[in-house]
Amino acid sequence: MSRIRLRCGELIAFDGQRHRLLRNVDLVLRDDRVEAIGGHVRGPFDREIDASRQLVAPGFVNLHVHSGSTVPTRLVTERRYPALFNASYLAFSPRRGARPIGSWERADAGGLATAIELLKAGCTTVVDLGQGIDPAAMVAIYGQLGLRAYLAPGFRSGAHVFVAGRLVIDWLPDEGRAALQQAVAFLERYAGSYGGRIQGMLFPYQGDTCSDQLLRETKTAARALGVRIQMHAAQSLFELHEMVRRTGRTTIQHFAALGFLGPEVILAHCPFITGHPATGLPGDEDLRLLAAHGVTVCHNPTTLLRRGHLLCSFDRYRAAGVNLALGTDHFPRDMFQEMRLASIMGKVAEGDPGAADSLAVYHAATIGGADALGRPDLGRVFPGAKADLIVVDLNRLGALPRRDPVQDLVLCGQPSDIQLVIIDGRVVCERGQVPGIDEEQVAAALQTNAEEIYASVPEWHATGATVEEMAPRFLEPMSEYHYTPPAGSQPH
Ligand SMILES: [Zn+2]
Repeated sequence: MSRIRLRCGELIAFDGQRHRLLRNVDLVLRDDRVEAIGGHVRGPFDREIDASRQLVAPGFVNLHVHSGSTVPTRLVTERRYPALFNASYLAFSPRRGARPIGSWERADAGGLATAIELLKAGCTTVVDLGQGIDPAAMVAIYGQLGLRAYLAPGFRSGAHVFVAGRLVIDWLPDEGRAALQQAVAFLERYAGSYGGRIQGMLFPYQGDTCSDQLLRETKTAARALGVRIQMHAAQSLFELHEMVRRTGRTTIQHFAALGFLGPEVILAHCPFITGHPATGLPGDEDLRLLAAHGVTVCHNPTTLLRRGHLLCSFDRYRAAGVNLALGTDHFPRDMFQEMRLASIMGKVAEGDPGAADSLAVYHAATIGGADALGRPDLGRVFPGAKADLIVVDLNRLGALPRRDPVQDLVLCGQPSDIQLVIIDGRVVCERGQVPGIDEEQVAAALQTNAEEIYASVPEWHATGATVEEMAPRFLEPMSEYHYTPPAGSQPH
């Protein structure tokens, strides 16, 4: 048995209904759970933590991470792809017959770097949708670092490929079914490992690449395994147009008609539903369906904003009764940034400074994510909850003055403010240091792997372009310095 006492200057605790603020209070952990809050709890304690000048809060539940795809996503960010409705994620689809870019990703490089980044940023529960990286290797990484992780090897019955420079979907239903079976076998083998910290879910990739049959089988398998399903859906105009053309309905309406939607379903991104101005489809029908089926929408603000898109809007989804969670997607994996951008995007979308307020986005980053996972013991702090916590120090210029901890976290917090991360009652990161990790070594491995991926670009790119052609650098390199005065300029 292990017991830890934290002396908390401020504590965000859960009163059974919502987050509340407590000041100058003790928090006692016993093994993997919260034992008591406040009062006089008798020792002995194995460790006493003085957080009397700090804020103690539940760790973040990051519902959407890809341990792979950091490099490819970086290459397509800030580029225009009009033929893809600017759905940049499609731009690193391979040409037909080529090996996909993700197969160059290495778990001991990008995968390990991702896990460390998540831990240092206070994500105590993460859903890792992989993409390229070996999920079994990620089980070992998350397991050993002490994270709580839901892993989800993806599957689909159609693959986006380029043929003569044009994107098409190649249908490979047998491969999709085999990959679903592999995912089921993976969950049967690994879910529950590392003391229950490793769990899983099913991940049919995308709205437009999964056949109706595959989605029906996914639903059945999820029920049999007792796991959730996460899927990218209504994520791009390319997908929406494809679905309307193929089925005569939006992605959401098609899923509802198929019987696919339900409380076990998490739809990632999901901006392009009826009522979003870019769809040209008015009305609240899609929102009504999402809410009626108890679906969670995992909002990843950075990804949407980088593509020039808005969720319309955070408050509109919430008012309709849709559970909202947050994820960091590709990079950076920083839930402070996601909360901040979710709040700002929500205000812009509504033209209302009171929209998507700090508490609403903080709720999504904690309770919303935990509820999506069906985990009332996560994302909140109360006696009996999992001891998954962060200790945050906001006593610095840039975060001061202090008044309202939730607003302070959302407006000004950053990962380097996190002093301590506790998962299952174990300190897994202290002052930005993850025990047993040589960060320089991990950084070097990540860069080496990235160089391998850059070199691979002509092998899979739609038209065989090099990395320099695909993603020219913004600063043109100069081999030798020379200065040419701008025309008409006067000497000083
Ligand atoms: Zn994603």
